[in-house]
Parts: sequence; structure tokens; C-alpha cells
Amino acid sequence: MKLPAVWLALAFIAGIAVERARPAGTHRWLFAAVLAMALAFLLLSSRRFLWPAWVVTLVAWCALGGLAASLERSSIPADNAARLVTQGQLDTSEPLRWRGRLRSDPLRLPWGVRYEIALEEVQNAAGAHPVSGGLRVNYFYNVGKRADLPPLRAGDRIEALVQARPPRNFLDPGAFDARGWLARQGIHLVGSLRSAELLTPLGTPPLALRHRLARWRGQLLERVDTLFPAAPARSAVLRAMLLGDRSFVDSDTSLAFQKTAAFHVLVLAGLHVAALAMFLFWVGRRLRLPLVVTTLLTLAALAAYVGVVQERPPILRAALMAAAFLLARLLFRRVELLNTVALAALALLIAAPSSLGDASFQLSFVAAGVIAGLALPWIDRSSGPYRDGLEHLGDVTRDTSHPPRVAQFRLDLRAVIRWLDAHLGPRWAGRSSSLLTTPLRAGLRLWELVLLSATIQLGMLPLLALYFHRVSLGGPASNVPAVLLTGLIVPLGFLTVGASFIWSGLAAVLAKLLGVLVTALLASIEWFARWPHLSYRIPGPPGWLLFAFLAVIVLLVAAARAARHTSAFPYRAAEWLAGAALVVLAIAVATYPFAPRLEKGKLEVTVLDVGQGDSIFVAFPDGHTLLIDGGGLAGDERVGGYRTGTDVGEEVVSPYLWQRGLKRLDVVALSHAHHDHIEGLFAVLDNFRAGQLWVGRDIGSRAYEELMAESRSREVSVVHRRQGDAFEWGGVKGSVLWPTDLSTSPSAANDDSLVLRLEDGAIRFLLPGDIEKKVEAELVAQEAPLAAEFLKVPHHGSRTSSTSGFLAAVAPRAAVVSVGENNPFGHPNQQIVERYAEDGVHLLRTDRDGAVTASTDGRSLAIHSYAEAHPPQ
Ligand SMILES: [Zn+2]
Ligand SMILES: [Zn+2]
Repeated sequence: MKLPAVWLALAFIAGIAVERARPAGTHRWLFAAVLAMALAFLLLSSRRFLWPAWVVTLVAWCALGGLAASLERSSIPADNAARLVTQGQLDTSEPLRWRGRLRSDPLRLPWGVRYEIALEEVQNAAGAHPVSGGLRVNYFYNVGKRADLPPLRAGDRIEALVQARPPRNFLDPGAFDARGWLARQGIHLVGSLRSAELLTPLGTPPLALRHRLARWRGQLLERVDTLFPAAPARSAVLRAMLLGDRSFVDSDTSLAFQKTAAFHVLVLAGLHVAALAMFLFWVGRRLRLPLVVTTLLTLAALAAYVGVVQERPPILRAALMAAAFLLARLLFRRVELLNTVALAALALLIAAPSSLGDASFQLSFVAAGVIAGLALPWIDRSSGPYRDGLEHLGDVTRDTSHPPRVAQFRLDLRAVIRWLDAHLGPRWAGRSSSLLTTPLRAGLRLWELVLLSATIQLGMLPLLALYFHRVSLGGPASNVPAVLLTGLIVPLGFLTVGASFIWSGLAAVLAKLLGVLVTALLASIEWFARWPHLSYRIPGPPGWLLFAFLAVIVLLVAAARAARHTSAFPYRAAEWLAGAALVVLAIAVATYPFAPRLEKGKLEVTVLDVGQGDSIFVAFPDGHTLLIDGGGLAGDERVGGYRTGTDVGEEVVSPYLWQRGLKRLDVVALSHAHHDHIEGLFAVLDNFRAGQLWVGRDIGSRAYEELMAESRSREVSVVHRRQGDAFEWGGVKGSVLWPTDLSTSPSAANDDSLVLRLEDGAIRFLLPGDIEKKVEAELVAQEAPLAAEFLKVPHHGSRTSSTSGFLAAVAPRAAVVSVGENNPFGHPNQQIVERYAEDGVHLLRTDRDGAVTASTDGRSLAIHSYAEAHPPQ
């Protein structure tokens, strides 16, 4: 067996995947593992059944994977804060006193400060109770003054009086599992501090190593800022590239890195570890240190690096892979890189099986896998022999040790050198050899970098489309300068920061050079990002395509490995075939040529869970699509190039639409220009091709004017809709019931909402935006056709809407309130909820039921909700 660790890791992964899909429980996995191991020992002892023994061993590892995943799930401590809250043992509807120690120095953000507290106890009316887990507390500068905050450092014990809650996932198909993601970072509760006085320092108990490391990180971050006091953009990028703090990288820069597939430069991972390790090895060789010493020094530096960075898992993965590789190189003559990659994956999965579901885990190992399995073998076969051929070029006796084509290459080169020697004149004579080989060597290295970069981009393509819904065709090219510059910036950055502690003069000189490199990096990224059409958003590939892609990569790796040792035709042919298949699959991923996931012949209205706000997706029987509003959360603003909160348009509405397989929308409609309806539409217009933008009356507000400018620049035609307008798609009759007045208004108002009515056979839908009692009364008085089986409750169920007269005129069977959980407005109003109940209306709400879908074939109405399809586990 050539690659034992790869097979064991794959078996272990299969076990985790099975347990995640269909939990079998600890006992069954344990039983299966023990049984398989006993059988494997039995088979091994007779020495005749090596192959069966190996297969049974794989089964045992599969069972161990399932066991590990099941153990991890049941190992949440009983006093975990999130568990206490979800099980109702701790009432968090009121602020409580949470006590614990700061995990890191308070993190300064562009708009506030963030504290991460390792919880020890919580105090409520009944007294103090021990709790475990992590609490993230945000303090926004607009709430109070910065100066009022107490000076705090990692390891300090503090008390925060906050209303803390487990982070909430949006209950929509395709939504990101923010809760699981934060839990894997040790954050179980989040809250925001209403005033600086609510934070009390409780002294500093003796510091542990992790606190000292965290303080060290804080100091290093401050140092980075002092290097470029006049150029905060450079400091922001360096903070990310050296220490993993991306909070000061503004949205435009971060978008440019995403568009050019170079975002990994800002996420500490393999590239940074490789840059550091290669630099240390280079220094070791210059100083003529023994290999053992260099290796140990590098390992120590990597360990310190892992300790000091902010986002630990990716750098830990890379450091583990590097350590496995370096140690193996000390022990063995030849190292199978794929084995070391698999060993690192196995070690991490044994420690935390749930990391298998992490996008960044999958990206790390797919990248490492294609580097080890494809890029390096290809380099070995293509440029490697020629690079070897450039060594000792003058030594004719070595020609025979090279393959014939390389021997010929050496002969040709020597002929060119002789010609150069004869023609260059005495000044250059004798240097013509290096004059020729140096650019050739550089050229070969560049080719290797391009091949490496292209292979990585190809391997990561389906995962990037799946998780980030982005395809970056320029990635292979933009990554060449990005990777080269990162390779220089990371070691030089640490040298500069280190120098600043010892000798500020030297640090200033190094900082100049560093500044040039960072500016060059930013310039190259921005240059590539400006190319049109090279980067675009796309629905994630269907599961079968993802699976086929991975399977073909495995086949290609196997074929490439086989072809390394033999040039026999079948292996070559297999490699070419697998390569061609991979290209076809890659094109399918990058173009998504599939039909949207819509039910033909049905009218569907889905009220999305966007927190407090509205976003409604409508699909017509003939495939026409309409999106009304894009949501918009309070606290999410665009301030000086940063976003201060969650952009629901990008993070909730767009992923939902991609999940439905959509690349375009026929119509995007804005009911009215309030923040909770308009804000998300910017991302929607950015991510999807829209046919038309429907609005009511023009508004003089900034957000509205920006939306108009946005649609003009994208050549989306704006259509003003008013009472009496009608349309018909796929047999569904649509009509606009409101507004009547199309004159421009200086500010947005609920009573200017577009009111849409859809009629499919006997079933009618009423979508009235945020209208309040005045418009409700007017519509009733006009005897507008309000009657509908399905109603989107006006204005989030506020007390000022859903008047009795209106409700009587609509007489819905089912209604949905679109509201945020525990929203500060008290929506939906209790009286209104009761009014619907008295009328016997089936009332759903997006904060509890999640996305609500009402669909009809024109005869009957079916209602489904996200929560009903995904019961809590
Ligand atoms: Zn609203
Ligand atoms: Zn409103």
C-alpha cells in the first residue's frame, strides 16, 4: 500500500460523513470499530489474508470516524452557556451579569470594540451559576464615548452586564450556519454592551501561557500600526497578512481580493506558513546550520506563529502539514507529500471531527491535495528535468545521466553559449553561461508558479462556487504576483516588526521596503480586479457535480502518479481522459448551465427570514421571477468603506436565490425606501442580472438615489408602478393596488408602499409592503380587490396596520409576519396577533417559522415553512 494515510483518512472522513447524515450513536460505532479491529488482527495473524485485513482495517477506521463524530456531539459540557439557554435553564430575556476572563486584548474595530470572554459564571436573580463557553460582546462607538472604556488586556477578569444570546441562524434554505461556525471558534453567546459603565474590571488573576501569547499578539498589532502611521490601508493589509486581523481591511479592498481569487493572501494559512518556513530554511542554509537544527528552529518558529495569530485553525492546519513534512524529511530519504497531507488531516479530524464541515478546512486540504497529487508531479515531469539540466552545464560527462530530450537541450545550450562567447566581446566573455541560464531558470520557476496556481484554482473552483458563489477566471494569473509578493512580505514584515523592538532606525528602513511591496501587492490586485467579466457570482454546483469533480480529481491523481513511473500508453491515455473530463466538469461548475429549481406550473410566494425587514421571492408558473425588497438590518450601515453589521442582501437573500439555482431575476421590486426593505437590494443588483426595477413614487433619500444610480449603471430599466397597472405571466394575473400618487416625496414613508396582488385561478395573494391604517382604510373605501387567500401581514404586524376593516376585506386563510426575533419595536403586536387568531387565520412568523412558502396550482393553497422541514436536533 503506497499511501496508507490517504486511505485511512478517507475511511475516517466517510465515517464522520455517515454520522453527520444519519446519527447512529456512540454505542453502535464503538461496537463496529471493536469488531472490525478484532477481525483485522485475526486476519493479520495468519499472514495469508493481507488484503482482506487491509479492507477490514479501513472499515474499522470508518467506524472510528463515526465514533469520534458522535462523541464530539455528546461532549458539550452540561454548563455550556448556549446549552443552558436553549434548554431553558437560563432566561436571557433580561441582561445578566456575565463573568469571565478576556481571551484576547480588546479588539479595536473601525466602528467599536469587541471583547471575547471565556465565561466562568453568570449571575441572575437566583444567584451565581458556573457556566462555560465563550461570550462575544460588541461595543459600538456610536453608543458611547471610547474614552469611557476601562483599559483591559488579555487574561483580565471582567464582568459584563449584557443581554447575551446564542447567535441566531437565518432560517432560510441555503443560509450560512453562523451558529456552528462561531461555536467552532469557541463563541457560544453574543451580546452588545449598551454603555461603557456596564463593563467592570475584576482584577487580573495569574496569567496562563495563552493569555501571555494573546497579550503578545496585541503588542505586535500595535507595532504594525506604528510602521505606517500615514497609510492606514497598508497597516490594515499587514495586520491581516502577518497576524490574521482583517477587521481594518475595508470592503472595497476585500472585494478586490475576492474578485481576483487572492483573498487567501489575507487569510493566514498555507501560503504564509510556507513563506516563513522557506525563509527560515534559506537563512539556515546561508548560516550553514545542520539540517536538524534548521528544522527544529523552523518548527519552533511555526509553533510560536500558531500561538500568536488570531484565527488559529487555518494556520494550525498549515503548520501541522509543514511539521509532518519537515519531520518526515529528516527521517526518510523520500517523502510522499500526499501521505503527510493525509496525516495532518487525520490528526485534526480526530481532535475535532466537526471541522470536516468547515469551508476553510475543505479548501485547505483540497489545495494541499492538488498541490501534492497533481501540481508537483506535473512540475516534476515538465520543467523539473530541464531545471536539473541547467546544473553543471559545462560538465559534458553528466549528459548521459539526463533523459535524451534534456541531454539534447544541454547540447543546444552549449552551442548557444559558444556562439555568445564568440560574439559578445571580451567584456562579457565567460559570463555568457550565466547570462543564458539565469533567465531560463527564472522562466522555468515562473512556469511552475503558474502551473501551481492554475492547479490550485482548478481544484478549489467547485468549493469556491459552493461556499462563496464566486468564479474568478483571472485567479491563475493574479495569484502569480500575489503569491510572490506574499512570499516576500511575510518574512520581511516579521523582520521589520522584530527590528522595531530593538533598533528603530533599521525598522524605518525595512518599513520603507515593506511599504513598497505592500503597495505593489495592492496595485496588482486592483489592476486585476478592474478587468471586467473575469469574476462573477454563480449558484453553487449541484451535489452530483461536486461529487463527480472530486472523483475525477482522485482518478487524475492516480493516473498522474502512475504516469510518473511509466510512459505506457494506457496510463497516459487515462491521464488525458481524466484531464479532459475535469475540464468539462469545471466548465459546468463555472457556467452553471442548469435550469433554476422552480416548480413548473405553480405560483410560489416565499417570505424569507431576513430578520427585521421584508424580502419576498415570487416564482410564476412559466418561470418568471420577481423579488420584492431585499431586507436590511438595523445597525448595518456603510460607514467609511466598512460595513458595520450583517448585509442580509449578500449573506441571506442572495444565497437563497443561488440555492434556487438563479442567475437572473426578471423583476426586482422595491415596496418603499425604508432601510429594512431597500438595503439588501444593492447586493441583489450586484449579484444577479435584473430585467427591471419596479418602484412606486420617487424618494429624495440618499439610499433611494443610490439605488437609482446603481440600476442606471447596470442598465436595469426602472419602471414606476401605480394603481391600475397590470401584468400577466404564466396565467397569473398581477395588479398594482397602490400607490396612486407618483409625485416625488422627500422621504420614505410606509404609506407609499407598492401593494401587489397576484391571482392564480381561485387563489389570490396580497403583498401590501408596510402600508398602515390610512392606506388600508382608503383601499377598503375604494373597494379595491383586496380579498386574498394568502396575506403578507402589512408593516411587520405593527399596531398601526391590520385594521379590522382591512382584515375583513382581505379575509385571508393564511398570513405571514416578517419580523426579527426579539425586535425592539415589539413586532408583531400582541393585539394584532390575537385579531388574526380570532378570525381563524393561520398566522406564521419568519422569526419562528423561518422562510414561509405558499404555493398554488390555481386550485389549492399549500403552505410550508423552513422550521417545519428542519426540526431542531
Ligand atoms: Zn419595514
Ligand atoms: Zn417601512
